[in-house]
Amino acid sequence: MTIEAAPTYEYDLLVIGSGPAGQRAAIQAAKLNKRVCIIERRAVVGGVCINTGTIPSKTLREAALHLSGYRERGLYGASYTVKQNITMDDLLFRTDHVIRHEIDVTRHQLMRNHIDLIVAEASFVDAHTIRLHYLDGRGLRDVTAAHVVIATGTTATKERNIAFDGQHILISDDLLKLNHLPRSITVIGAGVIGIEYACIFAALGVRVTLIDKRNRLLSFVDAEIMDALTYHLRSSRVTLRLGEEVKTIELVEDNSHGKRVRIGLASGKQISTECALHSIGRSGATDKLNLEAAGLTADERGRLKVNAAYQTAVPHIYAVGDVIGFPSLASTSMEQGRLAACHALGVEAKSVPELFPYGIYTIPEISTVGRNEEELTAQGIPYEVGKAQYREIARGQIIGDSTGLLKLIFHMETHELLGVHIIGEGASELIHIGQAVMAFGGTVDYFVNTVFNYPTLAECYKTAAFDGINRLG
Ligand SMILES: Cc1cc2nc3c(=O)[nH]c(=O)nc-3n(C[C@H](O)[C@H](O)[C@H](O)COP(=O)(O)OP(=O)(O)OC[C@H]3O[C@@H](n4cnc5c(N)ncnc54)[C@H](O)[C@@H]3O)c2cc1C
Repeated sequence: MTIEAAPTYEYDLLVIGSGPAGQRAAIQAAKLNKRVCIIERRAVVGGVCINTGTIPSKTLREAALHLSGYRERGLYGASYTVKQNITMDDLLFRTDHVIRHEIDVTRHQLMRNHIDLIVAEASFVDAHTIRLHYLDGRGLRDVTAAHVVIATGTTATKERNIAFDGQHILISDDLLKLNHLPRSITVIGAGVIGIEYACIFAALGVRVTLIDKRNRLLSFVDAEIMDALTYHLRSSRVTLRLGEEVKTIELVEDNSHGKRVRIGLASGKQISTECALHSIGRSGATDKLNLEAAGLTADERGRLKVNAAYQTAVPHIYAVGDVIGFPSLASTSMEQGRLAACHALGVEAKSVPELFPYGIYTIPEISTVGRNEEELTAQGIPYEVGKAQYREIARGQIIGDSTGLLKLIFHMETHELLGVHIIGEGASELIHIGQAVMAFGGTVDYFVNTVFNYPTLAECYKTAAFDGINRLG
């Protein structure tokens, strides 16, 4: 009888893509003393998150809030600004600085953990062999790995019949290359990215129109919080065109204004705007992977199906991050990367997806964790709500945010905290207090019986808890 030797591979774990999902998978495996590599086709690490998505958009938002003086307007009036005539250069100065820093920190982290970073485009030769197409012209090389993690993310969908030109008809990546701040912009698609950019431009005084086929904005967010955001959008002079379908987008020459974008709606309306930001859908970046060679197929949007352990149809090949679809956040992508690496390497890892928070960086920002009123009503769970307005809290007055709202939802009988929903300054930080209490199975009474620093926005938790308990009678 002959005993077959176990196959030997160059790497224990090979990761395709250096965005947040790929980074975390690689670092987790490296911490377990495994041989790990990341294949990245861009010259820089960090994926959409650092280079074109999360980090640039959040930094642009911060620059816009600072230079426009938006945060102070509650105190000093609507005409208050820090800088007159804000330019794209003003905004991008800060963005470039942060991107460079984040790339450097990430590279250093990978180096410190002895992860081989290979700049090449990856494609499958078979289920354990990956072909590297070096981008510097060094040709091809094949590498083998016991486990593969696909973390290739997404690319913005560019419909063929739209004449994207990078200055008037844009996808979100193009915003980082705009040579001037437009006077008007129409955002097509009111998903998270579309609404966030609509808010940034509105804060800068740009005339914004937001179009979406759906009648309700971000249906996964608590309705009361979205009503509050809708109020803010309208008071920032954003024109909402909901329940409207875009039929045509064309660049036209206007005698008095130069180049304009003309948008035709199915309802017959026409919108003339300086720029149109097309923010509908992103497709999984799987087209170059030669998935068939590994025994895999993607869906019509380039996405991969996985099980609860993030395994694809081929068990030693995992897929994590945006390439598997919702929720498509940097935060959840990182966690999926960690969990996939642990599963691949036989290490137990605990995670509580029901407690993943959502941070939506509109102006004002929104953050939620747990269930909302609509979900609890549908599930027949008896709940009560406690609310605190920022204006009731000293810190709210000090920072000039009088419209923020923190809402707690708890079980009517057990008082268990079931959800927290916040709109207002600092929402994405404040949410983690509620998240921690929920993770430990805490009740709303915790907030009643605890002492918060004074004056802080965190005090909203106490005020909301009292409000909720009082409603119980
Ligand atoms: C405008 C915008 C704003 C956002 N804001 C937020 C936010 O505020 N908070 C948040 O949590 N999330 C936000 N997101 C989402 C977040 O950026 C993504 O969820 C996150 O980047 C996904 O990480 P990933 O690792 O799956 O993929 P990516 O970050 O997309 O990285 C994938 C990497 O794979 C590489 N790659 C692809 N194919 C190959 C191949 N064949 N070979 C080698 N390399 C390959 C790509 O070059 C890329 O570097 C935002 C996204 C956008 C677009």
